[in-house]
Amino acid sequence: MRRVYLDHNATTPLAPEVLRAMTPYLTEEFGNASSIHSVGQRARAGVEQARSQVAALLGAREKEIVFTSGGTEADNMAIRGVVGASERARKHIVTSAIEHHAVLNTCQALEAEGVSVTYVPVSSGGVVDPEDVRRAITPDTVLITLMHANNELGTVQPIAEIAALARERKIPFHTDAVQSAGKLPLDVKELGVDLLSLSAHKIYGPKGVGVLYIRRNLPLKPLFFGGHHERDRRAGTENVAGIVGLGAAAELAAAHFEAEGKRIAALRDELERRLLERVPQAGLNGDRARRTPNTTNLYFDFAEGEPLVIALDLKGVAVSTGAACSSGAVEPSHVLTAIGLAPERARASLRFSLGRSTTREDIDYVCEVLPGVVEHLRELSPLYSKTGSIAAR
Ligand code: PLP
Repeated sequence: MRRVYLDHNATTPLAPEVLRAMTPYLTEEFGNASSIHSVGQRARAGVEQARSQVAALLGAREKEIVFTSGGTEADNMAIRGVVGASERARKHIVTSAIEHHAVLNTCQALEAEGVSVTYVPVSSGGVVDPEDVRRAITPDTVLITLMHANNELGTVQPIAEIAALARERKIPFHTDAVQSAGKLPLDVKELGVDLLSLSAHKIYGPKGVGVLYIRRNLPLKPLFFGGHHERDRRAGTENVAGIVGLGAAAELAAAHFEAEGKRIAALRDELERRLLERVPQAGLNGDRARRTPNTTNLYFDFAEGEPLVIALDLKGVAVSTGAACSSGAVEPSHVLTAIGLAPERARASLRFSLGRSTTREDIDYVCEVLPGVVEHLRELSPLYSKTGSIAAR
């Protein structure tokens, strides 16, 4: 059976170049990067090379790069770090309703600790209006955190515009760029951000390693206390092999994202067009123009997302109903409800996220098998009618 992996927003396979770069650090170069002997210093050299590779991807200084255990830690560190460093008596955060749970749940935890949070809404296309952010700012606002690209819809937020607004008011601005890295240009100066999160496993690197970019001189309270690693910003012995893998993945992303983006967008557009031609009562969720080149999110009214994922898996096709981290939950996706979808339509939606290994044959195969799978599930639905549709909320 053919196997087609269209879930690159959940995770990507390790690039062969990344594995090659990591292998020595999993074997003979096992040193602790803090040791002063030569075994340690060779490990240190690997970490520092990765730091310059990541800095190059982001247009940042090497000293502004802090390695973490992934995107989740980078988001937690940015948000808790800025809030913890602020000496204000009352603290307020502005974020959006469509953030990843790494951001949303950190904000919710801070609410329980007395911080107030505004979750700005998004348009039906899944995009934040900078005016809504401007209106949400109060004299107590200590941080604005907004994702660059959304993991479920791929929609891209007007980060530079909102960062300029934050800078005018001297409010630190953080962006979660986990889903835009390797897909869009990511220059911290052009974006105008103070903090930016990345994760290696979304850019063909290993799992369990990420980065927080911290603009020079920005006060940040550490999450962990321990040794003096990462210039006292992130205690813990460095994951040398993982960091080296992230560096190699960042270099590949910088070299290939433009050409790859065009190729992948053409395949994604074709997949979308052919599926929507062949499957009635289906449509696109989110803004068509403002999104990452690899993502499409489609609804198939009267076909439940979870059974669809399972039925497609039996045909060898891996897709997702939304954020991988929330699969298993029965609640419809918070992102799809935030753009105004009725819960039934949100539950009847699938995310297809293409990647480096996606071919035209993969797209042909999905277009061949998916219409029949949807039709079969619809036949089982007591609510299905060939003429009806699920209205927006
Ligand atoms: N932020 C976004 C937008 C994501 O898509 C993810 C992963 O799904 C994360 C953060 C979490 O990153 P990690 O898996 O490295 O903890």
